[in-house]
Amino acid sequence: MNIILFGPPGVGKGTQAQLLAEKYDLVRFSSGDLLREEISLSTLIGRKVEQFLRKGHLVPDDIMYEIIGNFLLENRDRGILFDGFPRNINQARSLETNTAQIGKAIDIAFEMRLDEAEIIKRLVNRRYCPKCGRIYNCTTDPPKEENLCDNDRTALVTRDDDTVDIIRRRLKIYEDETRPMVDYYKSLGIYCRIDARGNREEVLRQISDVVNDYLNSKCRSN
Ligand SMILES: [Zn+2]
Repeated sequence: MNIILFGPPGVGKGTQAQLLAEKYDLVRFSSGDLLREEISLSTLIGRKVEQFLRKGHLVPDDIMYEIIGNFLLENRDRGILFDGFPRNINQARSLETNTAQIGKAIDIAFEMRLDEAEIIKRLVNRRYCPKCGRIYNCTTDPPKEENLCDNDRTALVTRDDDTVDIIRRRLKIYEDETRPMVDYYKSLGIYCRIDARGNREEVLRQISDVVNDYLNSKCRSN
């Protein structure tokens, strides 16, 4: 089973991706984590990526294709959860082609939705563990000890891209570039909209219900 999880920044995609990957034994393709890794290792790709992200721009498609091509080959025998990729129609079409080439298909494309005021409120309270990548929220999902990661006790940080101006710009980019994927996935018959207002367990339950229905119907048709 291969799943796409998309939605504007701040809807809790990363958290749900983590939970779903564990629950259904999927390997997670997190473009954000992979890009940050390239940046921290200061690879050739990483240095290019950093310049785009600093300006609040999206990473160009050709760089993403290089990263995803390698990832698909390495994980051809696993179910994959795509978190933060694709981000536009071209990437979506390209992913469809790339997965077909290795005999895979996307089964469900989930879009998580939340209104803009709520997104901004969540993002300015967001803290991030630079060591393991876990994301917290000071108000809704705080760590057990103040500002320390539960997993490894690393001091939590605010990401550069979580300031209100950059958030607004990223939301606009989402509406302009990513949102048109909705019609594309509707046309493939695999689109599913998720209301991201609840807490993590409620949202996970919504998504799991759809995944379980899908898996059951696949069982019956086999
Ligand atoms: Zn950590």
